[in-house]
Amino acid sequence: MRILVTGGAGFIGSHLCERLLHAGHDVICLDNFFTGSKDNIIHLMDSHRFELVRHDVIEPILLEVDQIYNLACPASPVYYQYNPVKTIKTNVIGTLNMLGLAKRVSARILQASTSEIYGDPREHPQTEAYWGNVNPIGIRSCYDEGKRVAETLMMDYHRQNDVDIRIIRIFNTYGPRMAEHDGRVVSNFILQALRNEDITVYGDGAQTRSFCYVDDMVEGMIRMMGAEEFIGPVNLGNPVENTILQFAERIIALTGSRSRIVFKPLPQDDPKQRRPDIALAVAKLGWKPQLDLDIGLERTVAYFSGRIRRGSAG
Ligand code: NAD
Ligand code: UDP
Ligand code: UDP
Repeated sequence: MRILVTGGAGFIGSHLCERLLHAGHDVICLDNFFTGSKDNIIHLMDSHRFELVRHDVIEPILLEVDQIYNLACPASPVYYQYNPVKTIKTNVIGTLNMLGLAKRVSARILQASTSEIYGDPREHPQTEAYWGNVNPIGIRSCYDEGKRVAETLMMDYHRQNDVDIRIIRIFNTYGPRMAEHDGRVVSNFILQALRNEDITVYGDGAQTRSFCYVDDMVEGMIRMMGAEEFIGPVNLGNPVENTILQFAERIIALTGSRSRIVFKPLPQDDPKQRRPDIALAVAKLGWKPQLDLDIGLERTVAYFSGRIRRGSAG
């Protein structure tokens, strides 16, 4: 198959491109390199089945493909808040363009939605039936509401134009190739620990997140793309929940770091708790995360250690 991955030079996208290539597909990686990097995909460039297109999804594009994974969008609060209007355009106009493309060439399209569509959830854990608690005018809204509109567009193209859609709601995912400056908790804590710098816990660290290793996520994405008679939305994530303070302590123990934990102000609208209910993914896709958090973190620590050694982590 010929498969388009938008945002393919990013963290999750690069792992997805790699898996799809290894499975024998032709892969077109489309990216504007806002948060992605050629370093993430350089090892794929030798394959004649891999093509790289520098393009911004907010501009229309004509391609002939069988499947589209729509991942283009900065994922970390630091980057999606850097240019919030652009974030909204990417989610709304970008998704519209990819749906127009899917409609024209009759491709199946999978949208990378997010647990952020649940906002600061009043239901715990979050099931797909929950409509969420999202601030429409806050600093996270460009991302949260943008992703909500993207889901709406997917459903309306499906109902109105019979486009073959799949929607996944990704919960916090981590692993090698996370960008070191994007301010996400996993990369921040690991880099701080490896450098014996203070570990910056925001708020009192009682807020919770559940972390899924990227290989497990990619497996879930591919299963969802291949699912018949099931369009989602479906939660993909790891249901093992940690407080951020526990997580900081775990990273210190894992790295043998001399870092101290310091407390910084909690960013506005930071969700207090987040854990996916993955019963639907288990039932419909036979999917659940396989990798233990400590093993996934060890691999991620090894990746960032390597970057520090090579001098490429600034
Ligand atoms: P990332 O920032 O590493 O990757 C996003 C990629 O999209 C980058 O390569 C970036 O350059 C590209 N991009 C951004 N705007 C673009 C545009 N206008 N046109 C073309 N390319 C553009 O983030 P990631 O963690 O790999 O996330 C991938 C997708 O998964 C995103 O849609 C994100 O919202 C979603 N997601 C990720 C997580 C997570 O924990 N990593 C959680 C929920 C949802
Ligand atoms: N589009 C695109 N590539 C295609 C087909 C459509 O980028 O191969 C864009 C198109 O420019 C439009 C959007 O997708 O902005 C929605 O297309 P659709 O055909 O649904 O709507 P229309 O063009 O009729 O407004
Ligand atoms: N966080 C933190 N210290 C950091 C970076 C993040 O305590 O250096 C917290 C953040 O406030 C949030 C959690 O870790 O409660 C996850 O943050 P991240 O930006 O990784 O993802 P998201 O908030 O989008 O889930």
